[in-house]
Amino acid sequence: MSESIRMTDERVSADKKRVINNDRVVDVNQLVPIKYKWAWHYYLDGCANHWMPTEVSMQRDIEQWKDPKGFSPEERHVIKRNFGFFSTAETLVGNNIVLAIYKCVDNPECRQYLLRQAFEEAIHVHAFQYIIESLSMDDGELFNMYREVKAIYNKDEFSMKLTDDILNPNFELVSVQGQQKFIDNLIGYYGVTEGIFFYSGFVILLSFGRQNRLPGACEQIQYILRDESIHMNFGLEMINTIIDENPELWTPRFQESIVSKIRAAVELECIYANDCLPTGILGLNQHLLREYIQYIADRRLERLRLRKIYGSENPFPWMSEIIDLKKEKNFFETRVTEYQTGGALEW
Ligand code: MN
Ligand code: FE
Repeated sequence: MSESIRMTDERVSADKKRVINNDRVVDVNQLVPIKYKWAWHYYLDGCANHWMPTEVSMQRDIEQWKDPKGFSPEERHVIKRNFGFFSTAETLVGNNIVLAIYKCVDNPECRQYLLRQAFEEAIHVHAFQYIIESLSMDDGELFNMYREVKAIYNKDEFSMKLTDDILNPNFELVSVQGQQKFIDNLIGYYGVTEGIFFYSGFVILLSFGRQNRLPGACEQIQYILRDESIHMNFGLEMINTIIDENPELWTPRFQESIVSKIRAAVELECIYANDCLPTGILGLNQHLLREYIQYIADRRLERLRLRKIYGSENPFPWMSEIIDLKKEKNFFETRVTEYQTGGALEW
């Protein structure tokens, strides 16, 4: 979507920058002057939260998972379902950034964040690979769940269709229709895939962590959740900015279509939660998960400046505490020490 460089004495001014379709207005290769300070700050926040899966010990998890009495059959089912879901879902998000979003968003400060996010998705893929391998789980079973388990397939099909729409050779970003298609992709990934589809899994897995079970896996899930909340905040802010810059996209009819897609996504997520939790465990059940999914869907709608539709209460206030957690002191202290003793700072 950009033409190659040409000589000019016309310098880039921040106020001419836009999130999409810069090729007709400004040079897309100049980060500075920065217009979208929020995008730059999300990039800095992402870097400040940097972590690697292998820095987290899986020793206790391995002992617990090997112990035949460590988990009930229902608990093993729900754990495997969620690792199975995440093992491919993170890849879909990374692919969509690199293949679809990056070619449409040609503002350099947003691209700077997208590059950071793409690497974080690789770290998340790595985390689930590391967990699955550490616990000697059947990787064929887990990595194929998105093809073999309907409740997971439904969610991934919803997301992958949005990537296909942008990869379609007839896709263009000039018409209102094309731009709406791109907004659908962004809302589908930032609002739904990362904003709704990940959250039953987070609640269920972190409920084990709250009982000191699977502590290494849950520590990683906490870092992933923290990363994801930045991804989502960046994405929703970017969507609102595109809409402000292209208000003709935001027709009442288009807004209605967004709301109905969120409704459909909530149903897919509830089907998934029901499949994970045929019976109640760990104080969780299908009803509470539905309440929670509806509660977070309302939050996403409000961030998109749409009216909330459910009015459900948050049954898991402890989730907000985990999301709000800034840098955990222990984690960063450990990391600094490890880096120094590991010789990573030697030149
Ligand atoms: Mn991720
Ligand atoms: Fe993400």
